[in-house]
Amino acid sequence: MTRPLLNRRLAEFGTTIFAEMSALAARTGAINLGQGFPDTDGPEEIREAAVRALHDGRGNQYPPGPGVPELRRAVADHQRRFYGLGYDPDTEVLVTAGATEAIAAALLALVEPGDEVIALEPYYDSYAACIAMAGGTRVPVTLRPHGDSYVLDLDELRAAVTDRTRLILLNTPHNPTGTVLTRAELTAVAELAVERDLLVVTDEVYEHLVFDGAEHLPLATLPGMRERTVTISSAGKTFSFTGWKVGWVTSTQELVTAVRSAKQFLTYVASGPFQYAVAEALRLPDTYFNAFREDLRAKRDLLCTGLADAGFGVFRPAGTYFVTADIRPLGESDGIGFCRSLPKRAGVVAIPNAVFYDDTEAGTPYVRFAFCKRTEVLMDATERLRTAFAH
Ligand code: PMP
Ligand code: GLN
Repeated sequence: MTRPLLNRRLAEFGTTIFAEMSALAARTGAINLGQGFPDTDGPEEIREAAVRALHDGRGNQYPPGPGVPELRRAVADHQRRFYGLGYDPDTEVLVTAGATEAIAAALLALVEPGDEVIALEPYYDSYAACIAMAGGTRVPVTLRPHGDSYVLDLDELRAAVTDRTRLILLNTPHNPTGTVLTRAELTAVAELAVERDLLVVTDEVYEHLVFDGAEHLPLATLPGMRERTVTISSAGKTFSFTGWKVGWVTSTQELVTAVRSAKQFLTYVASGPFQYAVAEALRLPDTYFNAFREDLRAKRDLLCTGLADAGFGVFRPAGTYFVTADIRPLGESDGIGFCRSLPKRAGVVAIPNAVFYDDTEAGTPYVRFAFCKRTEVLMDATERLRTAFAH
C-alpha cells in the first residue's frame, strides 16, 4: 500500500505528549509530574454517590443524549451560584464525555473547512488536532513571557482576525502557562468578538483553581458575549476524577443544539452513573471549593520553591495545576531533549512546552510540571531535582 494509512489531517500529530510521557514514567519508575492528573481521588462522598447510582441502576443504560436532568440542573445552578449566569437546563446545557469531547464537538459543529480558528499559543494539544479534524486552519496568538508570568498581546490578537476567522478558542485559566486572563484582557476579547461577529469557545476546566485573589471571569458574563460564547468545563479537574470523563457545555439553545449535532455522533452519551455523582459534586458547599483551592495553592508554592532552588526559572501560575519553568538557567536549551533525559538524570517526568506551539522556537526552553500530587511526592520530586541540578 503506497498511501499512508493516517489521513493528511492527522498526520502531523503522532501520539499525544501526555501518553508518551506517562509511558516514560511507567517505564523508568520516575515521578510523573507530566500528565495532569491528581494522585489522590476526589471526595469520598462523591465516590459513594457513583457507587449508589450504579447499585440503584441509575445510568447503567444509555442516559439521555443531552445528559441526565439532575446533572444539567446542577450545571445550570453552578453557573448561577458562582457567576450569576442563567442557563435553561433543558435547552442550554449539554453533558459531554469530558471537556475533550466538548471541544471536539464544538469545533466539528461550528467550523467549516477553510475557516480560521484563533487559539492562544501554547495551546492544549487536542485543540490543534480538533481544528484539523474539522478542516479548519489554526491561527496561533502567542502568550509571551513577561517577568514571572505570561501576557496576551491584544494587538497581536486583533491583527490575527481576518475575514475568514470563524471563532476564537480561548482557555482561561490557561494550560500550560498558568495565566488567568484579566477582566481587561477578556473585555478586549469580547469587544473584538462583537465587533468582528465571532464566536468564542472558551475552555474553563480550571475555573476553580485560581490563586492569590485572582478572579476567574467566564467570558460569557461580559456584555454581548452570552449569545456568542460556548463555555466548556469538566468534573475531572474540579473534583479530581479525571477518569470519569464528565464534561459540559453551556451556551444558547442554538449553539448547544449545534454542538449536540456533532456530539451525538461521537460518543452519543457517556459516563451514565458518574453523571449522577457529578450532579452531587457540583452542589458541594463552598468549603469544598475553598479547601481544594487552598490545597493546590500550597502545592504550587512547594513546587515553585523547589524548582527555583534547583535552578529553574519559574513562571508562577495564577491558576491551573501546572508550573511552566525555564531550563536556560540550568545551562540547557532544548526542552524536548531535556524532558526525554529527565527520568534518567533526576527520576522525574515533565512535559516539554514546545509541543504546544506552532512557533516551536518560542516554546523550546520551557517545560511544564504538574503539582496535583501528594505533598510527599512533590517533596521527593523537588529534592531529586535539587540533587540533580543545584550547585
Ligand atoms: N482542556 C484543558 C485546558 C485541559 O487541561 C484538559 C485536561 N484535563 C482538558 C481540556 C480535557 O478535559 P477532560 O479530561 O475533561 O476531557
Ligand atoms: N489535561 C491533562 C494535561 O494537560 C492531560 C489530559 C490528557 O492526557 N489528555 O496534562
